[in-house]
Amino acid sequence: MRVAFKTFGCRLNRAETAQYEDEFAAAGCEIVPLGAEPDIVVFHTCVVTAAAENECLRLIRSQRKKKANSLFVVSGCAVHAIPEERLLSLGVDLVIARANKDMLTPTILRKVGLAQGDVSAPAPTRKMSRALLKVQDGCDFFCSYCIVPHTRGLPHSKPMEECLKNASAFIAAGFSEIVVTGCNIACYAHGSDRLPQLLAALAALPGLGRLRVSSIEPGTVETEVAQLMAANDKLCRFLHLPAQSGDNDILARMGRRYTADQLAQTISDIVKLVPGLGLGTDIIAGFPGETREAFGNTRAWLAALPFNNLHIFPYSERPGTPAAAFDNQVPLAERKERARQLIDLGSDLRNKFADACVGHRSELLVERFDKNGLAHGWSGEYLPCVVSGVPRDRRRSLVNFRTDCSAGGTLHGTAC
Ligand code: SF4
Repeated sequence: MRVAFKTFGCRLNRAETAQYEDEFAAAGCEIVPLGAEPDIVVFHTCVVTAAAENECLRLIRSQRKKKANSLFVVSGCAVHAIPEERLLSLGVDLVIARANKDMLTPTILRKVGLAQGDVSAPAPTRKMSRALLKVQDGCDFFCSYCIVPHTRGLPHSKPMEECLKNASAFIAAGFSEIVVTGCNIACYAHGSDRLPQLLAALAALPGLGRLRVSSIEPGTVETEVAQLMAANDKLCRFLHLPAQSGDNDILARMGRRYTADQLAQTISDIVKLVPGLGLGTDIIAGFPGETREAFGNTRAWLAALPFNNLHIFPYSERPGTPAAAFDNQVPLAERKERARQLIDLGSDLRNKFADACVGHRSELLVERFDKNGLAHGWSGEYLPCVVSGVPRDRRRSLVNFRTDCSAGGTLHGTAC
């Protein structure tokens, strides 16, 4: 049986797909690309923006025309944001709801009449350069613009022993980098264990190359995580703090849990703890009520802080969220124009950060080699790198290098 996955959206969706693929492989199925005439296609969906939702629906519709005989399955956030009748009307055969997501593989195998065996804990395969370790799901912060708590449900965390066991399996499979992933990992809580305890335990695993932490909600455990980063060189020196805005009125309308000044103070404390830190953030441009002055505040706030990795999104109304009904919606063209300005700012900030790395040592996770034999990958600070002098057999390994120069935010260096 040939199974293809099409995964949309976030890293958490990719982590879930990787697990499903390993389960199908353990059941004797072949994982194939979407274009390779699969018997089963699983669309693991995202509806975080209207554009993401439309892209999911467009692809299902167009693929149905090309693959009349494949079993079409939809899982992920679209299942809880789009009426089931609408999905079925597109030619979907099976809809897997959130409550059944852990049983996705056996449910599909049963549907196609295949004996299941035990596929619950397959050995991980090395399809990707880095392993995505899912430690929790769900969120109860209910930011006014966000559909995620409605689609993924309330937070629930995996026991620490299970996270450590899964991480050890990734190490045994040869992964050099593990990325700790979840819907809102700052909510990680199992018994008395919180995210900092989990990270400390993961960082102590024998054979671990390096540990990367995905996005952490500001106003939670970011300072404790930075302290851990300062004390333990297994943790990549990169922190992603999704600010969403740098204007206090907008932050309040968004239902965020901090002011711009509080977060600025936290960031200034953190960069003293972890010099040379890669620092990322998400910003929503053109949120309802964002005046030109409020937008200017966000732009100035970003420019004044040591951010070097900006993810900018024009605001997208999600039906059912409070913000979709707010007054003073910003016209779409204006949202896009503000986003463009912030993207330009983000390029400048990243270039400056990369320039500051010249002459310093860093560590590359080798993802591929180009035709000239140069190794490509990412540094611990989450900058793209191109490095010479790396033996071909070091693919997917960690390699130290010295940065000779930077260009367009990419580090160019020599292995050392
Ligand atoms: S913290 Fe806010 S933005 Fe992030 S998933 Fe939860 S509700 Fe959405």
